[in-house]
Amino acid sequence: MNETLGEFPCGVCDYPLRGLTVDGACPECGAPVMESLGNRSPLRKTSGWSTASMVLGITSVAGCVFYGIPSMVCGPAALITWWLARRQLVLKRAGGSTKPFALTGLITGIVGTVIGAAVAGFIVWVFVGLNQSMHHMQPAAPAAPAPVASPATAPAGQQAPAPASGAPVSP
Ligand SMILES: [Zn+2]
Repeated sequence: MNETLGEFPCGVCDYPLRGLTVDGACPECGAPVMESLGNRSPLRKTSGWSTASMVLGITSVAGCVFYGIPSMVCGPAALITWWLARRQLVLKRAGGSTKPFALTGLITGIVGTVIGAAVAGFIVWVFVGLNQSMHHMQPAAPAAPAPVASPATAPAGQQAPAPASGAPVSP
């Protein structure tokens, strides 16, 4: 890494480390720059998982209008990506806006999962209720399934006789 630091103070003595590289040391107290960086590094990029978690979480909350289906999918996905982002934070492999993004993903992910489960439960409840009331209104009229045509074409095609090997086939 040859990137130099911008306006960034030493974590030990607050001496400005501008112009130094990551593998250097503080000219004032000698503390390694890497150590000062820690989690608040301006060079460490925001974890992609945290961004994904935030987007998925917001989608899961906003998507409750579509029968809650996006919520059911994106909510748990936001929680999984939040966990991955958190792991990167613990391992200090992520910085930038990872923390607020991941937190947003966590909160919206939980809300989205709850909304998705609630909407799904409501839909199931409505359909079960609808089925039961229809069953009560017309008990003797269940739709008879149409007789299925026997699938004779598919196996016959596979057993088509092949021309005898060796003998040349003439038209
Ligand atoms: Zn220092």
